[in-house]
Amino acid sequence: MESEDVLKHGENSNPNHMISDRSPINFQDTLPESVEVAIIGAGVIGISTAWFLAKEGLSVLVCEKGRVAGEQSSRNWGWVRQQGRDAAELPIMMDSIDTWETIAKEIGDEIGFTRHGVMYLARKESELAEFEKWLEIAKLHQLDSRLLSGNEVDNLITDKPDQWEGAMYTPSDGRAEPFTAVPAMARNLQGKGVLIRENCAVRALDIEGGRVAGIVTEHGLVKAQTVLCAGGAWSTVFMGNHDIKLPQLTVRATVARTEPSTDFYSGNAVGGGIAFRRRQDGGYTIAAGGINEHFISADSFRYLFKFLPVVKESARILRLRLGGDLIERLLPMRHWSADQISPFEKTRVLNPAPSKGGIEKMRRGLRKYLPLLAEIPFAEVWAGMIDVTPDVVPVMDEVAAYPGFYMATGFSGHGFGIGPGVGKVMANMVLGRQATYDLDRFRLSRFSDGTNMVPGPGL
Ligand SMILES: Cc1cc2nc3c(=O)[nH]c(=O)nc-3n(C[C@H](O)[C@H](O)[C@H](O)COP(=O)(O)OP(=O)(O)OC[C@H]3O[C@@H](n4cnc5c(N)ncnc54)[C@H](O)[C@@H]3O)c2cc1C
Repeated sequence: MESEDVLKHGENSNPNHMISDRSPINFQDTLPESVEVAIIGAGVIGISTAWFLAKEGLSVLVCEKGRVAGEQSSRNWGWVRQQGRDAAELPIMMDSIDTWETIAKEIGDEIGFTRHGVMYLARKESELAEFEKWLEIAKLHQLDSRLLSGNEVDNLITDKPDQWEGAMYTPSDGRAEPFTAVPAMARNLQGKGVLIRENCAVRALDIEGGRVAGIVTEHGLVKAQTVLCAGGAWSTVFMGNHDIKLPQLTVRATVARTEPSTDFYSGNAVGGGIAFRRRQDGGYTIAAGGINEHFISADSFRYLFKFLPVVKESARILRLRLGGDLIERLLPMRHWSADQISPFEKTRVLNPAPSKGGIEKMRRGLRKYLPLLAEIPFAEVWAGMIDVTPDVVPVMDEVAAYPGFYMATGFSGHGFGIGPGVGKVMANMVLGRQATYDLDRFRLSRFSDGTNMVPGPGL
């Protein structure tokens, strides 16, 4: 298939392709009058939190403005990665990967979870030396990460030997299938009594006496004792309407999947600017690792100062774009009332066009480093908008201004793998239990209390 013939995400409503606003609506539970916990957003974070709350017997409603996992949670690379994590995230991630395994045992094939390792490939000694620094963190947690020689890499990756100096490798890392994993969890949850509704935007919080008392959806009010915002790239918009400041910007990342190919490596790897991972359907998911495009918006200027450290660190991989809808982005709707159509109903599924430059970079990278895979046609290309915070780690916290209102957002390009672990953390937080991890790095107040923004290991 030539590049012009490749299916772009959203062009096909076949449920075996990427999820878009043309995909069928599968979750249409009737809205109740009240629930114990209402969750805004049915991505991996919202659904995983519902997973653990349902285990505790709580009544839970998940409202999704578009489709379950329609945004980042289906568009990602599918890496379930402990390697290279921020030190504060690693213990949660180590629990998360075990949780993926448990969920996969309960649900089956649709999760597509398997452990075949993650590899960061190095072309030069200096790159290996950089990777080696992170091994200190791995050692503290008895993680099985280690350095590989070039020969060891060639034993694992059989497409074109003799080109890598070595790699950092974590054999216990894994992958899951983003097209199907979160929707399968959602279906399983419905069987346990969790209510899930697609095409149901939450416009605003219902506030009584200064605390959260429910949510106002486009289909009416639902009372709730607690509310979790797991809105991904939209969280900052939702918070802004309630005057809660959440510095969060978005970057576009482009991805492709190939037709089935021979298995020349069963895990996930990145090197030479190209990322690849074996898929359950026998193809590979490919991305040009190291291109993130930010479309300038009013928030780019608003949060510029906070994002300076990460902009400096990622200058090499960040591209600024104007885009055709610049005026709209410069003049966004900031406030609305609960009886008005909100921005969430106007964009059911954020479905950015894939970047032509990104696709070209992938093809060049494949020809150079993986010539056998380069022969296999792309079956589909798509893009996703990644939500990024100034220190590239998420916010997991209760919002002090509104007791009973929690947020888990800003996973900065690595929230899929850690999703089930975060679900457990957030369920415990909502239940008022003592946290088992140090969550200080993830508090919301770090953006306003003078804390220095120290970016984590990156997107
Ligand atoms: C191209 C790409 C590659 C990536 N690769 C990886 C990877 O390999 N490994 C990894 O760990 N992570 C990866 N990530 C990151 C990961 O996908 C995200 O961090 C994770 O999916 C975030 O989950 P979420 O539930 O917070 O957000 P989302 O999946 O974006 O879900 C948020 C949901 O909330 C809904 N919503 C928002 N506002 C409202 C509202 N007001 N009312 C109702 N619904 C609302 C949205 O429609 C959306 O469906 C990647 C991301 C992208 C885009």
